[in-house]
Amino acid sequence: GQCITHCPTGALTARSDIDKVLDALLDPEVMTVVQVAPAVRAAWGEGVKLSREQATPGRMASALRALGFDRVFDTDFAADLTIMEEGSEFLEFVKSDKPRPMFTSCCPGWVRFAKLHHPEIVPQLSSAKSPHQMMGALVKNTLREAAEAGGKKRIFCVSVMPCVAKKYECDVPELSTEGGRDVDAVLTVREFDRMLRMFSVDCAALEETDFDSPLGLSTGAATIFGRTGGVMEAALRTAVSILEGAPASFEACDCTAATPEHPWMEKELSAAGLTVRIAVASGLGNTEKLLNALESGEVAYDFVEIMACPGGCVGGGGQPIRFNRELAKERTAVLDKLDAEDSLRMSHDNPDIQKLYKTCLEKPLSHVAHEWLHTNQEEWTI
Ligand code: SF4
Repeated sequence: GQCITHCPTGALTARSDIDKVLDALLDPEVMTVVQVAPAVRAAWGEGVKLSREQATPGRMASALRALGFDRVFDTDFAADLTIMEEGSEFLEFVKSDKPRPMFTSCCPGWVRFAKLHHPEIVPQLSSAKSPHQMMGALVKNTLREAAEAGGKKRIFCVSVMPCVAKKYECDVPELSTEGGRDVDAVLTVREFDRMLRMFSVDCAALEETDFDSPLGLSTGAATIFGRTGGVMEAALRTAVSILEGAPASFEACDCTAATPEHPWMEKELSAAGLTVRIAVASGLGNTEKLLNALESGEVAYDFVEIMACPGGCVGGGGQPIRFNRELAKERTAVLDKLDAEDSLRMSHDNPDIQKLYKTCLEKPLSHVAHEWLHTNQEEWTI
């Protein structure tokens, strides 16, 4: 029903995909590939009794290997790719006379809300698929030979997500490529933690390991996708840097404070002769107010980021639940720290992303990029 896919209120009734994933893990003819969303690294340890210091991304990669996945990739890589595609789309958009604003499309809770309740703005949604769908398309289209060489007949792609809405997004037929379904199953963080407990994985004792290459390297810009304002900030780091030909300020999205009457953040930004008005909202109640203000002409923006869950994916409906405790802020601090400590902080600096464009995708918005990484938003609904 609507509440399930709008998340987070459907969290308790969401379908479980653990059996499907176990079947694939036990099938010797299947190559199992798993990817983990940015916000998962801030919360997975809560369900297996790890402290924030213990629950590192490296230990999370080892925990996934302990469950038997053949390849462990990072959705953060695809978040960097999303910035390349969506950022390029925005640079074209801002120079056009298309109706304002362009809206982000990486949150399926928001995309479903827009398609059901505000169909008039659907043409303004970015055509970029959400990062885990992009990763699924890359995996299905580039790993087939490696799978066959290893004696595997097919690839089963699993996403570990903070999100219930992504379980339904991956079933949308229009989000498949020639390689087949982009993503075969979505596990919430709670399901991931449940599997670790089912198999008695001693997470605290695991060594830290890297994600597999080449779909595992990412930047700090991708990590902050997991909190509200992160997609916008990541996009602006790259867009401003491309426009000015020099590194942008890391505080590009230092927005004005939100108020109850105006529950979103906004900022005006100028670079290379272009002025861009941006806004960031999370939570569907706040989103509704922002959309009403846009419709009445009270405000006008060029680029708007919306996340359905309050605080973004850190507060997602698939995250561990601790009653009476608000964890979105603590988890946001984890992501911001990982970003600050990362030696790479802009998506276009990711060397594996650069390599992917050289070897496969040519350039952002190329024909093959459109085939694999974009969708026609007007053709489907969740
Ligand atoms: Fe899913 Fe994140 Fe959107 Fe919530 S904010 S619906 S967790 S993508």
